[in-house]
Amino acid sequence: MKRILVTGGSGFLGSHLCERLLKEGNEVLCVDNLFTGRKNNIYHLLDNKSFEFMRHDITFPMYVEVDEIYNLACPASPVHYQFDPVQTTKTSVIGAINMLGLAKRLKIKILQASTSEVYGDPEIHPQPESYKGSVSTTGIRACYDEGKRCAETLFFDYHRQHKVNIKVMRIFNTYGPRMHPNDGRVVSNFIVQALQGEDITIFGDGMQTRSFCYVDDNIEGMYRLMNSRDGFTGPVNIGNPGEFTMLALAENIIRLTNSKSKLKFLSLPQDDPMQRKPVIELAKKELDWEPKVNLETGLVKTIAYFDDLLRKETI
Ligand code: NAD
Ligand code: UDP
Ligand code: UDP
Repeated sequence: MKRILVTGGSGFLGSHLCERLLKEGNEVLCVDNLFTGRKNNIYHLLDNKSFEFMRHDITFPMYVEVDEIYNLACPASPVHYQFDPVQTTKTSVIGAINMLGLAKRLKIKILQASTSEVYGDPEIHPQPESYKGSVSTTGIRACYDEGKRCAETLFFDYHRQHKVNIKVMRIFNTYGPRMHPNDGRVVSNFIVQALQGEDITIFGDGMQTRSFCYVDDNIEGMYRLMNSRDGFTGPVNIGNPGEFTMLALAENIIRLTNSKSKLKFLSLPQDDPMQRKPVIELAKKELDWEPKVNLETGLVKTIAYFDDLLRKETI
C-alpha cells in the first residue's frame, strides 16, 4: 500500500483521481486550498480511513511523508484562472518548486498535470508532443499557459539536475461529472444553459474546435502514466482526438437535453485558440492507452450529473 499525495484533490479531476487511487488500495492525502475545488466533490470520501484532507496552498512549503505525488493544483478554467492571474502563475511555478522540492527530499515519483495550452493557438494541427507551441507571453491567458510551461521546465530541470523521477502529462479539454457548474468552461456552460432553458452562449462564430475527453479516460491515462516504465518522463498528450466545433457541441447538447434554448453569439475572448486536437500515438505506444468513451456517451453522463445537481442546489 502506498501513501499518495494529490494536490488539487478536491477539484474536478483530483476528486476522480482520489477515488481511483483509493480503489487501488492506496492511502490518499488530498491537499487543496478550495479555491475552485468543492468539499462536496470529496464529501463521500471523508469517512474512508485511507483518505485524509488537508487545506493548504501549495505556494507555501509543505513537509509531509508520502510515496508518490500527483500535482494537479491549479485553477483550470479561463474564468477562474483569470480571476487572480498572479496567484495562477504562483500556483504553477512556486507550487511546482515546492512539490519538486518535496519529491527531491523524499526521492519519490511526481506527476505534473500539464496542459494542451502549452501549445497556445497552434499553427500545427493536430498537435504532437514535439510541437513547441505558439503562446502569448502578455495576453490574458498567459498566466496559465506560461505558468504551465515554466512548470514543465522546472520538472525537466529537477529531473536532469537532481534526478527526480518525473512524469509530465499534457491534458486536452476534459469534461464529466463534478465540473464546477459556474466555472465557465464550454461543456458545463452549455449543459447548464440547456437544462435551464437559457440562451446558449457561443463565443465568436462557433467554428473554433476542441477535442473533448471524458474524465474516466483521462484518469486511466494519468494512472497508467504514473505507473509507466522507469525512464519514461513524457511529456505525453492525453486527450480524445475526436474534434468538434463549438456550434456542433451546442447542437448536440440541445438535442440530448431536449432543450428549447436558442443560440446567442457573443464576442470571442482574446487569444482564444482556433483549433485543438491531440496526436496520441505516444500514449498508445508507451501506455497502451486510448480513449474509450465517445462524446455522446460522455455528454449523457455529464448531463445526468448536472440535472441532478440543479435539482438539489441553486448555483
Ligand atoms: P479544478 O479547478 O476543478 O481543480 C483544481 C484544484 O486545485 C481545485 O480543487 C483548487 O481548489 C485547487 N487549487 C488551486 N490553486 C491551489 C493552490 N495554490 N494550492 C492548493 N490547491 C489549489 O480543475 P481540474 O479541471 O480538475 O484541473 C486539474 C488539473 O488538470 C489542473 O492543474 C489543470 O491545469 C489540469 N488540466 C485540466 C484540464 C481540463 O480540461 N479539466 C485540461 C488541461 C489541464
Ligand atoms: N520544500 C517543501 N517540502 C519539502 C522539501 C522542500 O515544501 O519537503 C520546498 C522548500 O520550501 C524549497 C522548495 O521546496 O523552497 C524547493 O526545494 P529544493 O530542495 O529544490 O530547494 P532549496 O531548499 O535548496 O531552496
Ligand atoms: N466557449 C463558448 N461559450 C462558452 C464558453 C466557452 O463558446 O460559454 C468557447 C471558448 O471561447 C473556447 C471553447 O469554447 O473557444 C472552449 O472553452 P473552454 O473555456 O471550455 O476551454 P479552453 O478555451 O481553455 O480550451
